Amino acid sequence: MHPATAPTILLVHAEAPARLALATPLRAAGWDVVEAATADAALQINLEAYPAVALIEHAAGRDLCAALQSARPPHDLHCALITATLPQPSPTDEVIDLWLLRPFNDQQLVAQVRLLMRLAMLKQAHMQSLPLPYEEIIETTMDGFWAIRVRDERFIMVNDAYCQLSGYSREELLKLHIADVEADDDEEAVKQRINTIMATGLVRFESRHRRKDGTLFDVEISVRLIDSHEPLMVVFARDITEQRKTERRLQEQHEQFLTIFDAFPAILYVVDPATDEVLFVNKVFQELLGHDPVGKKCYCEFQGLSERCSFCTNEIILKTRQPHVWEYHNPIMNIDLLITDQIIRWPDGRDVRFELAINITTLKQVERAHENLSRELARKNRELEQIVYVTSHDLRSPLVNVQGFSRELQATLDDLSQQLATLAMPDAQRDMINLLIKDEIPESLHYILNGVSRMDTLLKGLLRLSRLGRKDLSIETLDIQRMVHETLNALDFEIKQAGVQVNLHPLPACRGDAMQVSQIFANLINNALKYLDPNRPGEITISATKSKGMVVYCIADNGMGLAPEHQEKIFELYYRLDPAHSEGEGLGLTIVRTIVDRHSGWIKVESTLGVGSQFFVALPEAL
Ligand code: ADP
Repeated sequence: MHPATAPTILLVHAEAPARLALATPLRAAGWDVVEAATADAALQINLEAYPAVALIEHAAGRDLCAALQSARPPHDLHCALITATLPQPSPTDEVIDLWLLRPFNDQQLVAQVRLLMRLAMLKQAHMQSLPLPYEEIIETTMDGFWAIRVRDERFIMVNDAYCQLSGYSREELLKLHIADVEADDDEEAVKQRINTIMATGLVRFESRHRRKDGTLFDVEISVRLIDSHEPLMVVFARDITEQRKTERRLQEQHEQFLTIFDAFPAILYVVDPATDEVLFVNKVFQELLGHDPVGKKCYCEFQGLSERCSFCTNEIILKTRQPHVWEYHNPIMNIDLLITDQIIRWPDGRDVRFELAINITTLKQVERAHENLSRELARKNRELEQIVYVTSHDLRSPLVNVQGFSRELQATLDDLSQQLATLAMPDAQRDMINLLIKDEIPESLHYILNGVSRMDTLLKGLLRLSRLGRKDLSIETLDIQRMVHETLNALDFEIKQAGVQVNLHPLPACRGDAMQVSQIFANLINNALKYLDPNRPGEITISATKSKGMVVYCIADNGMGLAPEHQEKIFELYYRLDPAHSEGEGLGLTIVRTIVDRHSGWIKVESTLGVGSQFFVALPEAL
């Protein structure tokens, strides 16, 4: 009820008692009732008062309604005709808002008029922008609002929100049928829907509406039937286009992730660690299992067990909250898996176990083959070392014998020649024996002894190399600066004699075995001195740089240099370019390489024939 003004009802009835009978309950309900006995009298009344509802006896009829309405702005007067029987529909029915079918009691009359009054107020408020509270609500809400007359499924009211949503003006919408804005339902479907609403009273559903420009938008509709003599449907239409868009986007994203997870060539699954229930598996895993395990217990589905696996990592990952990486050999499928387990937050807020398992069976096979090969190699190496050691060691004793007996033989020859002098024989015969004893046999003995001595040197070298490889390393931080200094001091005489200039740069410390590392520097500096070019003043430079956790020492000379084809070979056992040039066994660089290898370092040479050489040795940097 409008709080400020009691709405006015124009009551037109020819008979005074009947008018009174109608007016009394209406006045009791709080309305002002203006009475008229005839149509003319009714038209004389000034109905400026707000709002105006006309309650007209049927006899006075439609014409009066039409006349009253045309005398006032459209939609401003709301007419109810009182009748005993519903008349045939007529085109002029537009002017009638409600048929009040007799018989009715006072309560029914008041209820019907109240409905009409509400409609009137709604329309009035709508026309005059009066601040009716529900009008404000309806206009304030972001949802579209309509009132629809069930009779002809036409809009009798729409709010601004729906006008904006649909792109239609209020006047345009008021001329439309519901099916005009329904995008998916035709008139038949709309009718069916209305029947459902009529049967149930309140219905909510989702639909799509068409704007004036033809574009579509998603709406959530709630409809309530106001069941009166003139049934109305009150409809709220909420624009859910954005919501739908977001949902569709989320759905798309969801599908994208699923596509990625399914295409990922690894096992992926999610389990609730509290219940061991499988929440998700990707396609790879599902195909491997041959069925969908979601909703069931993981240990049962994945391992065929009746209780939690003994190697379950739940406790670890729940405690550390860190990814836990481990390897597992599945004896049933005979596959090796590299597994990463971790706790992640499931969309519903639960902490769940996420497992990623990559099949590394092939990798493992290669790894095992590699391990076998390495073991075999180590065994063969040990065997070889043993052979080298035994042969070099044991061959030396017969060699010593050969050497000893050769010397013995030499002494015997002297005795023999003395004995020969005392014997009488023809001169020619004596000369021949003397030639044998004094020249030919000693010459052969000389060759034998030389050979033996050469063989001894070779065997000693082999023995040294073999001992080097077998000796345990004692790794410590080494002051290389001091070590090189000492080496240079020891070679002071040779350096001075050859007139060599030595440039010594700062040398960082490294880690290694003192005895062996000092041998590296001694051999390289010795070689630098040994293979200088006699035609120019010698210069040796020792420097260092650091790179990737290693110290790279460089021993550079301006000596003879090496042709490219020799640069790799010089590290081979007994390899010498020019044995006549200088003393040597061809073992120094082999020893250097062996030591460097044992220290997980590397060695290389850069050299230009006739210009000089640079030997680079990398050893682990001191911590
Ligand atoms: P050795 O010095 O006893 O011959 P190495 O193994 O130390 O044995 O060296 C092998 C060969 O490499 C040498 O005979 C020499 O020909 C060559 N060589 C080594 N160091 C140098 C150098 N600094 N400059 C030129 N040639 C070198």
